[in-house]
Amino acid sequence: MASKKLNGTVIVTYRCNARCSMCSRYKCPSKPEEELSIETIRKLPEMYFTNITGGEPFIRTDLKEIVRELYKKSDRIVISTNGFFTDRILDLCREFPDIGIRISIEGLENTNNEIRGLPDGFNKGYTTLEKLVGMGMKDVGFGMTIQDKNAPDLVPLYKLSDRMGMEFATASLHNSFYFVEAGNIIHDRPMVAQNLETLINELLSSRSPKKWFRAYFNHGLINYIYGQKRLLPCDMSFDTFFIDPYGDVMPCNGTKDKEVMGNLNEQTWEELWNSEKAEAVRKKVRCCDRNCWMIGSVSPAMHKYIWSPAWWVIKHKFLFFWKKKKYSMYENKIARDYRDGKVSREELDRCSTCERNAIVKDGLSTASREQLKGRSGEEIVEADLAKQFEYDGRTDR
Ligand code: SF4
Repeated sequence: MASKKLNGTVIVTYRCNARCSMCSRYKCPSKPEEELSIETIRKLPEMYFTNITGGEPFIRTDLKEIVRELYKKSDRIVISTNGFFTDRILDLCREFPDIGIRISIEGLENTNNEIRGLPDGFNKGYTTLEKLVGMGMKDVGFGMTIQDKNAPDLVPLYKLSDRMGMEFATASLHNSFYFVEAGNIIHDRPMVAQNLETLINELLSSRSPKKWFRAYFNHGLINYIYGQKRLLPCDMSFDTFFIDPYGDVMPCNGTKDKEVMGNLNEQTWEELWNSEKAEAVRKKVRCCDRNCWMIGSVSPAMHKYIWSPAWWVIKHKFLFFWKKKKYSMYENKIARDYRDGKVSREELDRCSTCERNAIVKDGLSTASREQLKGRSGEEIVEADLAKQFEYDGRTDR
């Protein structure tokens, strides 16, 4: 099982300088001393795709060394970032011009800054993207988490990314230990779905096959926000994995609490991947009912079950060009049922993973949790960053 190339997500840190309204990870940072070492990174298997994420990965001052190691064992690397540390991003990309960079931008300027809570976050992110394009980076794009507040900005932001020749990745609200959230939920589902419908039609009308498949992904997002069963099976932990800053290998980042297959600080990859513990997690994945629709779990499924999205694309391209028939959100039965009053909002809410009174899990180690006694996560990360930039002898970031 371990000999074939895998799809891996490497969570290099839980430290984050943003204050996103839909993710409380910034309140629960990891301790830098405990975060993935280069030795552990070296133990990772060969991957056909690697996503480097956080927290905010560029908070790690040794990110370049991490990328150097991952570069040796990965066909493709994409880093997800909030785009705040422009100089660090540009510096890394000078050495690795063929990696991908996705900057989270949650809407046009005001919406983005409100959701992400980063001072001047939109301009910082946008400027970073422009500079990356300016230096010839090819695989650069926006990432947006669609919710009630930013859904009206969805299409304008897509058009902006299109004009800049950039990728445009979407997601929606999820609840899990990774986001340290249990209360995320879409309130006005028809409004959000309507904006997704417009985006889907924009994507279908393009000449890019990649965008047609993105249209399918966004169709699946409508299905997800109405709390329905995933359109494709979830095979996380079979040929896909996540590793957290403590070396714990997990199937995904969508579970309520951390599901651990093994620890790479203590085991070899082969031991871990072929262990009974890993098998037990795979069994759980087989019956998982959380129905996440995030690119990390959907992209491998779209490749594996290619005929399902391909058939959807062929059908919609045919309808679009020969019958002039646009995609409608009401192709989803649940959207029709809700419109026709056959299902209530409360019933749909119950189909979501939102649990208002749940104890929210954070996946932190004991030592990382200890540091939160008497100090908030925000204070810890701020102090950490102040030290980093003082050491650099710089005031700007
Ligand atoms: S549906 Fe898949 S990605 Fe979501 S929690 Fe379950 S196993 Fe993880």
